[in-house]
Amino acid sequence: MKKNVVSMLLAVVLLANVAGAAFAAPLEGVGEGFAKNVIYLIPDGMSQGGVTLARWVYNNGEPLHMDETVSGLMQTHNSDTIVADSAPAGTAMATGVKTQDKLIGIKPAVANLPGAFQPTEDEIYMPVASILEAAKLNGKKTGLIATSEIQHATPADYSSHAVHRNEYTNIGEQQVYQGIDVVLGGGLGYLGLDTSDEKKITSKYRVDGEDMIPVLEEMGYEIITTRDELLASTADKIWGGFAEKAMKRDLDKPAEEPSLAEMTQKAIDVLSQGENGFFLFVEGSQVDWAAHANDTVGIISEIKAFDDAFGVALDFAKADGNTVVIAATDHGNSGITIGNMATSSNYSTLPVEFFVQYLRKATVTEEKALSMINEDGSNLAEVFAALGIEDATEEEIASVLEAEEGGTALALARVVSERSGIGYSTLGHTGEDVAIYVYSPSAENTLSGLINNSELGQYAAKAFGISHCRAVRS
Ligand SMILES: [Zn+2]
Repeated sequence: MKKNVVSMLLAVVLLANVAGAAFAAPLEGVGEGFAKNVIYLIPDGMSQGGVTLARWVYNNGEPLHMDETVSGLMQTHNSDTIVADSAPAGTAMATGVKTQDKLIGIKPAVANLPGAFQPTEDEIYMPVASILEAAKLNGKKTGLIATSEIQHATPADYSSHAVHRNEYTNIGEQQVYQGIDVVLGGGLGYLGLDTSDEKKITSKYRVDGEDMIPVLEEMGYEIITTRDELLASTADKIWGGFAEKAMKRDLDKPAEEPSLAEMTQKAIDVLSQGENGFFLFVEGSQVDWAAHANDTVGIISEIKAFDDAFGVALDFAKADGNTVVIAATDHGNSGITIGNMATSSNYSTLPVEFFVQYLRKATVTEEKALSMINEDGSNLAEVFAALGIEDATEEEIASVLEAEEGGTALALARVVSERSGIGYSTLGHTGEDVAIYVYSPSAENTLSGLINNSELGQYAAKAFGISHCRAVRS
């Protein structure tokens, strides 16, 4: 497999050369670029309604870290459909090329919407290099962080190429051989390490039975599994796997798991030791998962955790003076609104407290609360108290007790959102524009207005003075 990855990467470079310019070559007129480092953050599935609510609940309406850098709007559509999923949306953001559903770092067959780029027949389903790969080819240090499995679609888009996002065995193996300097997140189980039994190797979730752990060791990685080990590490090549699959939601985090902000700080500390600069990708992965469940506390607490990580990146960039920080979600999710059908006629009379009082008191997310419910549901009043609702009514408790099979989570989430006047329109992704957040050390090289998701990837390449696929054709 190692050979396959190498030849695939060679194919990417060769293909780009054949097409007229390597992704990795300086783009004419761009030359050296305008920044030494790029930190690229994605809060997956973050709708603007969630950002506004997080601002009210945690910051009393005052700006979050990312707010001072908001600079425009981004269209999130795929090459052929309006509502995006993480695999194609992240591909566009990582490579500058819009693509189709399920594809990871691969060009589309159909590209007929604005901002999409139709490949020639030969290029259909061919891999396209990501900004992380290009940065590495240009001698920069690289980092990859997520709170999901590191093999999940969005981090995969920056570090692998696959025809389906579910190919964790394949994606995980490619990520190992990429030689990324710092990898932090979940997904250790997909590399073959069983964290439940003294690091006994079982190749737990790998379908090929291969064990990637000795490979990582041979490549010189320090493999760590806890927050303490991360904070204490002095290695310059770190693979931190803090969960077999996904890490916990930030609000529910056990002491052994680092926060997204802590992982971001550590990665910056390590990567900034290099002479040629670095590229760091950071995903707040679970805003999306909370949104799929319509979990209000989950959404806003995950946005807060993401914003803290953004603040770490922004502080570094301001002090460094040679670092670009960019962020945008890959797509909306859930249609979260402040105000719902029950507030249709009285919205303008509702005090701040109406929307924030319960959410501010929540000490666990809905996901954790669900796991706290006992067999007969007799402790639901306590469970609601942990969610900030200390006076749950009989009716509210009954709505959870009497939920249909499989509907308990949503019933619980509905009590929380309805108490706080929060509305939802779907349990799926949504197709509206999203905000872009850009901090540039160069006043002439900012990014604003209405852009396409592919242009955000192209902007990252431009910061490094690296050409990108789209430039070959235009
Ligand atoms: Zn996504």
